[in-house]
Amino acid sequence: MTIRLSRAGGQLLPVLTLLAASFAARAEEVVVPKGTPFSHEIRPGPGVSSVGWLSDYQPGLSGTPGDTRVYVLEGSEPGGTAVVVGGTHGNEIAGILTAVLLVERARVLRGRLIVVPHANNSAMSAEDTERSGPVWIVVKTPAGSRRFKYGARRTRPEHQGAPDPACYRHPASTEELDGEEARNLDRAYPGDPSGPLTQRIAAGILKLLIDEGADLAFDLHEAGPTSRLAWMIVAHPKNIDMAALAVLQLEEAGVEMKLEPSSETFRGLSHREWGDETTARAFLFETPNPGQASKAVRARVAGDSSLSLERRVGVQLSTLRAVLDAHGQTVPAPLRIELGNLPTLAEIERAGLGAFLAVPSVSPEPAPDLPAKADTAERLARRAMQTIRDARERTAPEAVERSRRSGISGLDVDRLALIGDELTPLVTTMGRLESKRLATDPRWASLLVHQLAARGVGPGAAVAASFSGSFPGLNLAVMAACRALGARLVAVSSVTASTWGANEPGFTWPEMEALVVAAGVLPAASAAVSLGGSRDAGRDLSPEGLSSALRIQATASAVLGAEALPPTSLAEAVARRREVYRRALDGRPPIVYVNVGGNHASLGGATAESRHAGGWLTAPSEGAAGTRSVMDAFLAEGVPALSLLDVGSLSRVWGLEDGGRASASR
Ligand SMILES: [Zn+2]
Repeated sequence: MTIRLSRAGGQLLPVLTLLAASFAARAEEVVVPKGTPFSHEIRPGPGVSSVGWLSDYQPGLSGTPGDTRVYVLEGSEPGGTAVVVGGTHGNEIAGILTAVLLVERARVLRGRLIVVPHANNSAMSAEDTERSGPVWIVVKTPAGSRRFKYGARRTRPEHQGAPDPACYRHPASTEELDGEEARNLDRAYPGDPSGPLTQRIAAGILKLLIDEGADLAFDLHEAGPTSRLAWMIVAHPKNIDMAALAVLQLEEAGVEMKLEPSSETFRGLSHREWGDETTARAFLFETPNPGQASKAVRARVAGDSSLSLERRVGVQLSTLRAVLDAHGQTVPAPLRIELGNLPTLAEIERAGLGAFLAVPSVSPEPAPDLPAKADTAERLARRAMQTIRDARERTAPEAVERSRRSGISGLDVDRLALIGDELTPLVTTMGRLESKRLATDPRWASLLVHQLAARGVGPGAAVAASFSGSFPGLNLAVMAACRALGARLVAVSSVTASTWGANEPGFTWPEMEALVVAAGVLPAASAAVSLGGSRDAGRDLSPEGLSSALRIQATASAVLGAEALPPTSLAEAVARRREVYRRALDGRPPIVYVNVGGNHASLGGATAESRHAGGWLTAPSEGAAGTRSVMDAFLAEGVPALSLLDVGSLSRVWGLEDGGRASASR
């Protein structure tokens, strides 16, 4: 805390008054805006034993855009603990990609590796306006391209929870910096758990180092190519000898790194404060990024031939391994940290970075139990269908059933139970009977297990979904797949449906879900129930249809323990759905968003581009998508979306017709 005397009306205010005011302000916790942290597509590799969040260490980050994922790689032999932090500055891309490479590729032979690839996730979500960097970095892999977010240097002002001061002074420092440096994570250590967002992130990283008993801690940065800092290791004085040993080793391998100790007076930097406040030996690496040249305009931050991203990542990785080796030479064997399965600098330069990252849409090592999980999902989907058929046979008059089935041939009674009438008061749009027939195939559940697993959905992973009444079979397939994968599913369901969908009172989608849940076949998925139809508010229903839909919404949401979303404007419907997911997932983003059917709030209106795209979608490579729909909003936050609307073309692409044998990678 800094207390500065100021003059008001030409008179010096009494110091005591100022002190009292300062303490009062200090006691009050800064209110940091709630928000969903940006989601990055990282495919945890075979070495990752668990994935957590920085808010697990620092609860003040929970539900804020500053929360970020923490990857733990437990070694096969016990040893020391190393923590690697990337993305302290969101535009220092080589540090970020080095951290990603560790998560996707490394195996720990001895000890433990903890990786935080995007330390300042608020800065990651921003664009580098200062030096006009790209929005995404594209890395080619042997099977398609991967995209990685290129962010800004500092926390977004609107996330900080406090306006920038006129000038920023670290409590332990005499130097005064520009006010915006209050949002620079690498000026904020040791941080304040109840302060503005940047302070909370710093406190979170420090708490992680302490709680995990870090022996070594690395902060991976980049600097402008002509900066004094380029090709530099900065080390805390207590471990400068270890860094010197690493520099010698790197030199022998033809890599030149400079070395300097942390400044005594310049405070708030990671290497200085981590080393002072914890038992960790702290290091910071800097490679040169052409995008950070003083006047770089759309610089080639990845493709520059002399400062290629390959070389920069390779050097960061080599430097990390050199320090681990130096550490290994100074401690007894049981305290060492040894990493395996990582490429050398020469290998990265030769084969490209993408050769060592997971390839898109295919999990790095398909789990051997995936076929069994796919079978489980299909079995669950069949049991759910039987449950609905049983209920129809118990409750629906036989004549109705007969007439309903008379026009439909070639489906067994279980699949028929998922098909509604052509026209009922709950019908909002026209659907094709052929699509409805296809959607009742229980093998969708099995295909979805492979599709979702390839995107990183596994035990404990969160999946957000929108279920309309149009394809109840697909809704059940998503529920069954998530159940089989052990994932946590949070859905917003709607009551109304298209022709031949779940459009009969008693057998609307939320009522079908309630039947399946009551029978103990699948756990409830719906956290909220809306009306569906035009503006997600049933605007296209007759008065009779609307009152029926409202009645069903009230009873079904009560049975499911879900919130009944009131009819409102489309923008409000989008906002309310987003809030449902945010609350249910404690403010953390889902791994994927799954849209089933054509819900207006989920997909947007007829002009929304994403409405017409099927299968897997990711955000456009330049500029963020709008937020006219829930799906656009998720895409803009980096969450990939799967849209199950054009059932016919998906069944061909995913190979449903030939028994689902086509690759799950499409
Ligand atoms: Zn930096």
